[in-house]
Amino acid sequence: MKPSRYEFLLGRARALATMYLNGLTRRQTTVRLSRDELWERLYFPLPEEPTDDGTVLEHLVQAVDPGLMASAGPRYFGFVTGGAQPIGIAADWMATAWDQNVGLYAQSPAMAVMEDVVAQWVRELLGLPQNASIGFTTGCHMANMVALAAPPNALFKQIGWNFEQYGWQAAARICVYVPEDVHVSIIGALRILGMGDERVMRIPCDYQGRMDVDALIARMKENIGPALIVAQAGNVNTGCVDDLERIAMHALNTKSWLHVDGAFGLWAMTSSTRSRAVRGVPLASSWATDAHKWLNVPYDCGIVAIGDSAAHRAAMSLNAAYLERSAREERNGMDWVPESSRRARVVSLYATIHALGREGVAKIVDRCCDLALEMADYFREAPGAEVLNHIVLNQILVAFEPPDGRDADEWNREIVRRVQQDGTCWVGGTVWKGRYALRISICNWQTTERDIDLSARAILRSAGLPMPAA
Ligand SMILES: *Cc1c(COP(=O)(O)O)cnc(C)c1O
Repeated sequence: MKPSRYEFLLGRARALATMYLNGLTRRQTTVRLSRDELWERLYFPLPEEPTDDGTVLEHLVQAVDPGLMASAGPRYFGFVTGGAQPIGIAADWMATAWDQNVGLYAQSPAMAVMEDVVAQWVRELLGLPQNASIGFTTGCHMANMVALAAPPNALFKQIGWNFEQYGWQAAARICVYVPEDVHVSIIGALRILGMGDERVMRIPCDYQGRMDVDALIARMKENIGPALIVAQAGNVNTGCVDDLERIAMHALNTKSWLHVDGAFGLWAMTSSTRSRAVRGVPLASSWATDAHKWLNVPYDCGIVAIGDSAAHRAAMSLNAAYLERSAREERNGMDWVPESSRRARVVSLYATIHALGREGVAKIVDRCCDLALEMADYFREAPGAEVLNHIVLNQILVAFEPPDGRDADEWNREIVRRVQQDGTCWVGGTVWKGRYALRISICNWQTTERDIDLSARAILRSAGLPMPAA
C-alpha cells in the first residue's frame, strides 16, 4: 500500500519534535535574537501560490528554532511554568489528530465523557466537594474569570434579584474583597465581568503576602449586602497561602462567596507532607487552578471548580440555566466555560493523571518543594544574599546587596539581566513590598539536584559572589 500523506508528514514531525525534546535539557535558556531578527526569519510576503507540505514543515521548524525559549526544560524558573511530560505530548498529538470539538455532547461523546471522568479525578486529587462542577479553560486566569462570574447568580438570589435576567442594570452592589497581594488575573477577571475597581477592596497582607483576616472581618462589617471574598493558595511571588480555614468560617457565617485562586498551590493538596500548607481548601465556594503549571501538561490547560453548580451553569450556559444536571446526564462542555467550540485539552490531562497516579503527582510537588529549599540554602550561605520569603512551597524570592554606591533595585535588575544572558537558567524579577528581587519558581517535572546546583552557581556568579565548594 502507498504511504499516505500523513505518514510522511507526521513521521517527519515526529523526528523533528523528538530532536527538539531530546536537546531540551541541554538547550540554553535564552533567546539571543532580537524581535527584528525573528521577524526577518519568519516573515515573507503572503504567498499567492501553494507550497508543498514537506517544504512548509522544514521551513517552519528551521525558521522558528532560535527564537524558542527552553521554558519546558529543567532550568527554566521564570513566572510559574511547567513543562510537558512525554505522555502529555503524545496524548496531545492524539487530540490534534482526532480534532474533536468538545462544545456539545453530540459533537464528541467520548470527549464529553472524558471531561466527566477527569472532573471526578480532579475533585478527588484536590480534595474538592463531590458535587462541584468543573470547567476546562485555557489557564487559571480564565478559570478565575469563570469562577467569579458565578457568584452574582447565587448572591443576588439571596436578596431576590434575578441576576440572570436583569444583570448589573440597577442591581444592588456586591462588595469584593481581595488580598492586597492578589494575582493580577483576579483584577483582570473582575474588570472583564464589569464589577468595577471601585467595588474591589484590597485587604492588607503580612510580609509573606498572607491576607490579614482581622482586617478582612473589620472591613466586611463596614459594608452591607452580598460579599465575594478572594483568597490565595500559593501567592505567585512567595508561594504563601491564606488562612483558608478562618476565612471560610467567616464566609460561611456571613453567607459570602469564597473563591480560592490556587493556580499552582492547589496541587499541594495531593502531597501528604505539603497539604498542611493548604488546609481549608475544601471549605471554599469555588476554585481555580492550572494544569500546565504543576501538573506539567502541555499548554494550555486550566481548571475551574464551583460548588454551586447551578450558579456555575447560570453564568456560562447558553441554555436553560437553572436546570440541575445529574451526574449521569450527557455533558455539554459549553455549559461550564465561556467558549462554544473548543479543543479537547482534556486528553493530555486524562493521560497524564493516568500515567502519574496520585502518588506521581504528589512526587512532582514534593520534589519541587524540596528543591526550592535546596536552592534557598545556596543563598542563605552566600554573603549579602537575602531570601525574602518562607519557603512554604516552590517559590523563592532572593535579593542581593549592591556593591558600594549602587542602587539595590538597579543592582538586582542587573543580576537578572546577567542570569538571563548567561543562559544556564532563566529567572525573572519582581517587586516585592517595594523591593526588586529575583523570583525563582521550581515547577518542572525534570528538574534535578544537579540542575539546582548549576543554576544556583550561575546566579551567584552573576551576583559576583564566591562559589560554594563542590
Ligand atoms: C499563573 C497564575 C494565574 C494565571 O494563570 P494563567 O495560566 O497564566 O492563565 C493566576 N493566579 C496565580 C496565583 C497564578 O500563579
